[in-house]
Amino acid sequence: MNDTRIKVAVLGLGIMGRGMAGQLNAKGFDVTVWNRDPAKARALGDAGATVAASPAEAVRGAAFVIAMLAHDDASRAVWLGDDGALAAMDAGAVAIECSTLSVDWAKTLANATAERAIGFIDAPVTGTKPQAAGGTLRFFTGGDEATVAKAEPVLLAMGTEVIRLGPVGSGALLKLINNFLCGVQVASLAEAITMVERSGLDVTQSMAVLTAGAPGSPLVKMLAARMIERDYEPNFLPSLMAKDLRYAASTFAGQGVELASAEAARARFEAAAAQFGGKDMAVVAEVIRGAGKARE
Ligand code: NAP
Repeated sequence: MNDTRIKVAVLGLGIMGRGMAGQLNAKGFDVTVWNRDPAKARALGDAGATVAASPAEAVRGAAFVIAMLAHDDASRAVWLGDDGALAAMDAGAVAIECSTLSVDWAKTLANATAERAIGFIDAPVTGTKPQAAGGTLRFFTGGDEATVAKAEPVLLAMGTEVIRLGPVGSGALLKLINNFLCGVQVASLAEAITMVERSGLDVTQSMAVLTAGAPGSPLVKMLAARMIERDYEPNFLPSLMAKDLRYAASTFAGQGVELASAEAARARFEAAAAQFGGKDMAVVAEVIRGAGKARE
């Protein structure tokens, strides 16, 4: 049978990547997946995706290659390492980096793709596990107009909006500013909840008042509920928030902006990652509460 479906490879099937690959698979793309830990690829294989043994194997013949990886080191290893993706891609194909990365690394990777006549966009996302699984992510894109336009139908299979921000690195830049704001809010919310709990005020009433007022951003509303219920099923790991705050601080230090609040928040998320490993970033509340072991 002659399969004319568009071939897309997805590299990285963590909390976000597996939902994104699932959406592409469900929407009729010819999907090949790879993950460092192959166990995470099994469910997608059962759902009809092809499972590859290496990034190189996954990307052969693909028109689009999407990476959704933890950090710069993971991205470097998967694109440029042994059996890496880039050397195996066809000229004219498009590399789409959806991981949250440093701006410097996004630009370095873009240069490496250009040397091979491969298109590149940085396209980090907003939204978390339910949005990845449900196809309602928003993409912050950086890259030339034609390449972003070419990638748009693939991105819209996983999300609701493709925001064009400028040249390569623009998506990474706004994503780091976005997560700087998010990280500082979540760390300060953890302190506020602990203040309320220690104050003798009614916790339910006080948090309802605070979240209905000026401090009640969508993120604060969502995380306040999780912190109060001690629901730490992971959507977003504290180690990744610490990484985003580190990248934001180093990127903007080069431009003379000192992110003092990012540094304070980063220390909180690093402590949460060290103490509570694979739980959601909401567990940062336990660092402040000093409650020892978080409820499973
Ligand atoms: P995750 O569940 O921790 O998954 C991380 C992925 O990176 C896994 O596939 C992991 O492979 C892979 N990886 C890590 N180190 C690697 C290495 N050295 N070589 C190869 N693969 C490596 O993270 P996630 O939540 O899906 O997040 C993925 C990216 O999206 C991150 O950049 C994150 O900041 C960003 N993001 C996350 C959210 C969210 O709410 N979760 C929202 C927006 C953006 P293994 O499975 O083998 O460990």
